Amino acid sequence: MRPLIDSFGRKIDYLRLSVTDRCNLRCVYCLPADGAPFLRGPQVLGALRRGPADGFVDSRSGDILTDEEIVRVVSVAVRLGINKIRITGGEPLVRPGIVSLVGRLAQIPGLEDISISTNGTLLSKLALDLYRAGLNRINVSVDTLKPERFRTIARFGDLGEVLEGIRAALEIGFSPVKINAVVMNGINSEEIPDFVSWTRRWPVHVRFIELMPIGETGFFSPEHWLPQPEIRARCGELEPLSREDSPRGFGPAVYFRSPGALGTVGFIGALSCNFCSRCNRLRLTSRGRLLPCLASEMGEDLTPALRSRGNEDGIEEIIRRVVDMKPERHQMDSGNGKVREAFMCALGG
Ligand code: SAM
Repeated sequence: MRPLIDSFGRKIDYLRLSVTDRCNLRCVYCLPADGAPFLRGPQVLGALRRGPADGFVDSRSGDILTDEEIVRVVSVAVRLGINKIRITGGEPLVRPGIVSLVGRLAQIPGLEDISISTNGTLLSKLALDLYRAGLNRINVSVDTLKPERFRTIARFGDLGEVLEGIRAALEIGFSPVKINAVVMNGINSEEIPDFVSWTRRWPVHVRFIELMPIGETGFFSPEHWLPQPEIRARCGELEPLSREDSPRGFGPAVYFRSPGALGTVGFIGALSCNFCSRCNRLRLTSRGRLLPCLASEMGEDLTPALRSRGNEDGIEEIIRRVVDMKPERHQMDSGNGKVREAFMCALGG
């Protein structure tokens, strides 16, 4: 089988899989307060309807991919050389049946690693079932350790629930548990040392993420953007870690450790430290569009091939074409210029 190698010689072995575009939070940099034009589908757990106006549609014939379709495309992708997937969204844990979907994916021969990115609000309830279903790793997004500020940034939800979820994941034995914190200058940037000090007490791996110009929220601006070197400078003393000593993962973060800490500190700076030369991934949106790059308008709709029976060759052709489309590097910049218009929740951030 010809491996998936793009036109710039990069081996593609990682798929980010968005299982819903819906979310029970409305983080200021990610979604407008009243949500986005979400897709139709039985995608939101009833208990969440008390929360943000999520435009719930109780439809059994939605626009998002079904479990069968997701399993089918991942099976073909794994046959072509994809050996790790990250389940994302939207908020993946609001998709009904997420545990059974993880269980089905975990049984695909050749798939070596299944991880999930979550906002953590539903994690304490689902972590054990996800572990038993075969989930290997968890990343939890949390941008502040202050309850009041959590409400300002996420607009809904409760920091206590998220910390409960992280504690549950650690107790169950997920390892590593990574924390994604988007740094917004003047909003949560003064908490950088607090996150570092958290890694001294808890075995968590905090990754500081540079704000990206994605989504029509109007939030991204040079004033809110703090470059990675500046974030790093505010962390205090950190020891560099070799790849072997860094937490297991397949993404672009580089890791350090505060002396004597249980956890680590990592940095992901899409704008100031372009890491496209090491890019190993494709993205599948919850609607079934396969994207070569987070910041590119290119991509191809997989649904016609997925919805015609026995068309594995058609699925394979599309995957190969999208690999060939991968640009050498993204074109995002930190000025006011280019902003990717689609919402992160639709792209599968
Ligand atoms: N709901 C899940 C979660 O919270 O991790 C998965 C989806 S969320 C869109 C994935 C990640 O994208 C989160 O860590 C979020 O903070 C990040 N994100 C969203 N919009 C962003 C932006 N404009 N710049 C940087 N990171 C962003």
